[in-house]
Amino acid sequence: MQKDSFSTLPTGRFAPSPTGRMHLGNVFGALLSWLSAKSKGGQWLLRIEDIDPQRSRREYAQLLMDDLQWLGLSWDGEPVYQSERGDIYEQYFQQLKAQGLTYPCYCTRADLLATQAPHESDGRVVYPGTCRPKTIGTIGTIDTIGTIKTIAPPAAQRLIVPDREIAFTDGHYGTQSINLASHVGDFIIRRKDGAWAYQMAVVIDDALMGVNEVVRGRDLLLSSPQQIYVGELLGFHAPAFIHFPLLVNEAGQRLSKRDRSLDMGELRQRHTPQEIIGMLAFHAGLLKEPQPVSPDELIKKFAWQQVPCEDITIRNLSI
Ligand code: GLU
Ligand code: ZN
Repeated sequence: MQKDSFSTLPTGRFAPSPTGRMHLGNVFGALLSWLSAKSKGGQWLLRIEDIDPQRSRREYAQLLMDDLQWLGLSWDGEPVYQSERGDIYEQYFQQLKAQGLTYPCYCTRADLLATQAPHESDGRVVYPGTCRPKTIGTIGTIDTIGTIKTIAPPAAQRLIVPDREIAFTDGHYGTQSINLASHVGDFIIRRKDGAWAYQMAVVIDDALMGVNEVVRGRDLLLSSPQQIYVGELLGFHAPAFIHFPLLVNEAGQRLSKRDRSLDMGELRQRHTPQEIIGMLAFHAGLLKEPQPVSPDELIKKFAWQQVPCEDITIRNLSI
């Protein structure tokens, strides 16, 4: 299905959200996507995902770039900022709207939680379709509903999803298949406050930047079919997806920004860049033991087959 993605050199990317200082988990993602692209002679692009104006800060973007350079993970070309691309997202949103596939949703978070128990164990709620127009697929119906918006409170925009399996082959976890209607429901592509949703922006940006290899944590496995679907509607070629295991603490919880001892501000005071890269390379199965190494030295050692599929426990919060 995605054979074409491999016939050209990979163009990978790192797409962090500048909502805090980078931490060890983010560095792991940066390193793996960098190695995956570089080991095949490809390019590695940087996209600053600052679409959420409330949570993103320019200072964090600056620190992030400084941290990447300090680690020896350099990117190709100029960084792309999502906050500057609103007009582009609007244009593609209009295409979806013209296909009769979007509708305004007035539900509050409380409404959604009240109507349904969160899905499985991860707290997600499958949207029950409360605001979905009764007749879908005709522009007239959507427009009629759209005009109500002027007298109604601000609405989010949702994308109608099909009741069919969307399958893809993950480069690390193998075949994945999911029915968006039963597992996700119609999802938000523009928030109530006007901010563009990640699921919309990421697809447009990956396509327009020429990204053909998306490497990211396995927590985003479920996002891939949503993104494949958006891409199909907009006529884009799907990138190859490669997900990697998460770094977790001893309680099995994903390392997060809350673990202050693992943010780059702290790590840079206690370690050299080579020590941090060496420790991560060891956990990625690329070294037999943690030892200082530069990203460049790992290029020839890198192979996805060596990277585990199970989550990786970081025992000692100080490395
Ligand atoms: N900004 C997203 C994140 O930080 C990017 C996810 C992706 O790589 O698609 O999780
Ligand atoms: Zn709704």
